[in-house]
Amino acid sequence: MKSRVAVIGAGLAGCEVAWLLGKNGIPLDLFEMKPVKYSPAHKSPYFAELVCSNSLKSINIYHPSFMLKEEMKILGSIVIESAYRNRVLAGESLAVDRDKFSKYITERLRSLKTVNIIHQEVKDIPQNYDFVVIATGPLTSETFSESLGKLLDNNFLYFYDAIAPIIDSDSIDKSKVFFGSRYDRGGDDFLNIPLTKEQYFNFVEALKSAEKVVLRPFEREQYYEGCLPIEVLAQRGELTLAYGPMKPVGFDEKRIGFKPFAVVQLRKEDVEGTAYNIVGFQTKLTIKEQERIFRMLPGLEKAVFLRYGSIHRNTFIDSPKYLLPTLNLKDMPNIYFAGQITGVEGYVESAGCGIMAGIFLLFKIKDIPVDIPDAKTAIGALLSHLKNDTKPFQPSGIHLGLFDKKDMPKNADKKIWIRNKEEESFKNWHQQISKFIIF
Ligand SMILES: Cc1cc2nc3c(=O)[nH]c(=O)nc-3n(C[C@H](O)[C@H](O)[C@H](O)COP(=O)(O)OP(=O)(O)OC[C@H]3O[C@@H](n4cnc5c(N)ncnc54)[C@H](O)[C@@H]3O)c2cc1C
Repeated sequence: MKSRVAVIGAGLAGCEVAWLLGKNGIPLDLFEMKPVKYSPAHKSPYFAELVCSNSLKSINIYHPSFMLKEEMKILGSIVIESAYRNRVLAGESLAVDRDKFSKYITERLRSLKTVNIIHQEVKDIPQNYDFVVIATGPLTSETFSESLGKLLDNNFLYFYDAIAPIIDSDSIDKSKVFFGSRYDRGGDDFLNIPLTKEQYFNFVEALKSAEKVVLRPFEREQYYEGCLPIEVLAQRGELTLAYGPMKPVGFDEKRIGFKPFAVVQLRKEDVEGTAYNIVGFQTKLTIKEQERIFRMLPGLEKAVFLRYGSIHRNTFIDSPKYLLPTLNLKDMPNIYFAGQITGVEGYVESAGCGIMAGIFLLFKIKDIPVDIPDAKTAIGALLSHLKNDTKPFQPSGIHLGLFDKKDMPKNADKKIWIRNKEEESFKNWHQQISKFIIF
């Protein structure tokens, strides 16, 4: 069977595109450069690797990320299917065992006869296909970035993203920490380190004066606001961390024995709890400084770091300028983009964008006009961000502000109203398209 479609990148988005098209009988070549070549953040040979946190965010029914996950589940998402099968308990979030999660997706894709997997770095836009989907993510390889640059008048955008360290559970002194979740939502899923006022200020002081990894001269220091390194937060104000990732709220003081001034949370990395990541501690401190400063925290004095925090460039295109609402280029409509490279932000959002690129392309191949979901649905709200031409264009995850609230009554409860409209609008849209797709 001749492959008409090339999907480049088997990350969260590329896997969704390949899964949707493959299930619908479209033969395709899926190019993935791992294990031949790895980006600075990717380490696993499997597809759909989670490079930093192992959380796919909230499962609270009014949370925009939950609404998005629910819609993706109905659209047959392989990422959400794997997440629920390989879940580790983490309070109100959907956290996963990252290895099992990625392995499951890899095996499911390998089982599709329509998907031909090619382990190779793509250096140029392949010419011998009817359609190409670019899903190479925020860490697109340098050579391919250059070739994309030529396609888009070198008009690439970028910022820097940091990842948090992972600690070996056996190296944590459990007598100084306690198990529990904020507001008891989720039992004993997290490890928590309570800090006194003095311990907190010493920690903040150490962060402020710590040695950081220096960016190269041509790299401007520009971060995504939703994922700021902990030392950048510390610089913003002495109490910024106490009101942010280290907020002391939601715990029973009797259990701790004192009123904590701040609390550091560690989230399980795997079902067995052999490793923990420090929540919100993404950092670009040098390795030496990470060891020195994070070991100041009670219980982490002898911490063994399984992975250090680090910083990476995050590349995306100016989607409002270049893309049609169906995620293909205005000037070359046979080239589609999917995932974080479009300017959506986050694991779930990248995968969701992949599903939509797959749906749009499937309709194009079948030559059927496609309905674009409106911004009352979560998936439509997410895509609406890619049309937002207020400058400068910046990546965004899903949030309530993206939903269409034009006809919301003044006295309505915003969350409940959005949730009700979302369910209703998604059901209508899904009914329209499901006649033509196998989910
Ligand atoms: C350092 C970092 C930390 C992040 N942390 C989080 C987080 O904690 N939580 C969160 O929700 N989001 C996080 N994100 C944002 C985002 O959700 C992830 O980057 C997500 O994986 C993006 O999905 P994707 O499918 O677009 O790209 P990816 O998942 O990165 O997939 C792209 C794939 O393409 C392959 N590839 C690249 N170039 C080529 C080429 N030329 N030829 C062939 N294959 C190629 C790569 O090997 C990779 O497998 C982070 C991003 C970065 C960069």
